[in-house]
Amino acid sequence: MNLMNLMNTRTCAAAVVVAVISLLAGPGESQIPNPESQAAAGTRGQQPVLGYDDTPMQPNGRWRIHDSRRPQPSLVTPGSMSSSPTAAPSDAIVLVGEGDDLSAWQNADGSKASWAMKNGVLETGKGMIHTKTEFTDLQLHVEFATPSAVKGDSQERGNSGVFLLGKFEIQVLDSYRNPTYPDGQAAAMYGQYPPLVNASRKPGEWQAYDIVFTAPRLARGGTLDKPAIVTVFHNGIVVHNATPFWGPTAHKKIEPYTPDTAKGPIALQDHGNPVRYRNVWIRAINGYDSAT
Ligand code: MG
Repeated sequence: MNLMNLMNTRTCAAAVVVAVISLLAGPGESQIPNPESQAAAGTRGQQPVLGYDDTPMQPNGRWRIHDSRRPQPSLVTPGSMSSSPTAAPSDAIVLVGEGDDLSAWQNADGSKASWAMKNGVLETGKGMIHTKTEFTDLQLHVEFATPSAVKGDSQERGNSGVFLLGKFEIQVLDSYRNPTYPDGQAAAMYGQYPPLVNASRKPGEWQAYDIVFTAPRLARGGTLDKPAIVTVFHNGIVVHNATPFWGPTAHKKIEPYTPDTAKGPIALQDHGNPVRYRNVWIRAINGYDSAT
């Protein structure tokens, strides 16, 4: 066999290997159907649909919003957590405490908060609830648990959310062995950044978010001066490190900053899945030398 024949044989063999791998791997990128039309079926061939490939690119041009091809964050097993809620600091405003008191909250239309609360545990109900108080820069502690009886997949499993100033969502989801688009999994800055790692506990177990948030600054006239910035710990593990939001949270798009994004309540999302909350407290951050 001369050199040309040997090369042709090897090229041919390589092509066969590539073709076999392609067949095993499923359809190529150009053949991927519209994920929205696939969403009802829940599968793309034999592969689960994890997101979208027809949404706008994010502002840095690296990934689409809810991109199905974005890498899944690495798994990290968090350290142990106390089985009972830890006490809030003395200057915190307790939003969900032990006393089944929902007076800090209201429904979106201003009526009395309608979610059920028993023995210090609040369960999601119909519609979002908002705090009556509005905030700017803040520290927020939230404990939550997704249902121990696992039901649904992807975005339909234990979905709720913590909305900072009512507009910037830190996602709540059961992300224990439940792949979804990475910028929509638990602790994601929804539609913008996945968590740095996936520190989710098992369904039914209590988990914690500790959030430090700097509100956006808008100049007179409504133009953006400084974006909102967030640092988040999920079960004690940093998952966002002073990361700016591109704008307020939206599904399949990113909204622009507007003057009303500079201040707002804390809101908890109803996404049709039962999620429990307990021990939620907040501290306003007033800056250095601000003691009165
Ligand atoms: Mg959500």
